[in-house]
Amino acid sequence: MFKGILIQKDEAGYRSSLAELDDAALGDGDVTVRVAYSTLNYKDGLAITGKGPVVRRFPMIPGIDMAGTVEHSNHPEYRPGDAVLLNGWGVGEVHPGGLAQRIRLKGDWLVPQPSAFSARQSMAIGTAGYTAMLCVLALERFGVTPDHGEILVTGANGGVGSVAVAVLAKLGFTVVASTGRVDEADYLKSLGAAEIIDRAQFSEPGRPLGKERWAGAVDSVGSHTLANVCATTRYCGVVTACGLAQGMDLPATVAPFILRGVTLAGIDSVMCPRPQRLVAWERLAADLDVAKLDLITHEIGLGEVIDAAGRLIEGKIRGRVVVDVNR
Ligand code: NDP
Repeated sequence: MFKGILIQKDEAGYRSSLAELDDAALGDGDVTVRVAYSTLNYKDGLAITGKGPVVRRFPMIPGIDMAGTVEHSNHPEYRPGDAVLLNGWGVGEVHPGGLAQRIRLKGDWLVPQPSAFSARQSMAIGTAGYTAMLCVLALERFGVTPDHGEILVTGANGGVGSVAVAVLAKLGFTVVASTGRVDEADYLKSLGAAEIIDRAQFSEPGRPLGKERWAGAVDSVGSHTLANVCATTRYCGVVTACGLAQGMDLPATVAPFILRGVTLAGIDSVMCPRPQRLVAWERLAADLDVAKLDLITHEIGLGEVIDAAGRLIEGKIRGRVVVDVNR
């Protein structure tokens, strides 16, 4: 038997609970992992609270990421004792996830844990941090360099935003952090933000084009915010879009793209091919100051997950939440 969060949906309704599970709750796969840490991502918050249609099979163990040690393997690349981590691939959505003490999955989905990080540190980064790095890699791929000008990070106090601020600042970019919690300015400055701005200026319907300011952007917010960010991005600037914290809509015009050559780069972490994942984790090891991780992270036990999921969706949690699944 092992402990895990279980989401059920039946005639009694949609509900999440901390449950005692047995191997029947595990998914198919050639590798079984003893989980050490998982995390709470925005998507996990939506799944646990039922506020978004994330879970597509019931009952479901949520948790889109985890780090742990291989217990059993029929996969050629993994042996018992190997330290591994996982992000995405539909885990916690259609395949039982990481918010439990054990997980069984396809070895092809796993990434060897980078030696630079402990299991806890790799989950302090988690899917949010790995997605932030995919955004940074896209900015680089489209040629954005620090001398081009300011980079805007929206949702800066969130998981994606916090890691994006820390990585971009370490790479020498001038980072402007947009947030609804300007009282957290000291935190964002300690991560490396040069300036903090109120997200309200992006939240409402705006004009097709505004004054050019951003050389690049990491947007985890979507909706009017993304439209206004594109409208204020400089000629040939690059906007990476990875999230929908404000909304899934994009009430924009084509003006920034056809008149200013702005690039809108979509970022998906879930089905991202393995070679790109390996690069992202290598770059996190090189370009994220691990001392900053302590500032970004706080830890909870499995029993605190359901309460924390509600607060995360309300935007009341700062940075990253690591879950010790064994306490
Ligand atoms: P968090 O909940 O940690 O952060 C989201 C942040 O967005 C909040 O902290 C808040 O920042 C801001 N925010 C919340 N509500 C609003 C609103 N109504 N208007 C404007 N800003 C708002 O989530 P994550 O950082 O983990 O994820 C952020 C987004 O990225 C989510 O939508 C998530 O689904 C998506 N995501 C996508 C991935 C992909 O593969 N594409 C992978 C990982 C995440 P502040 O208080 O600073 O304003």
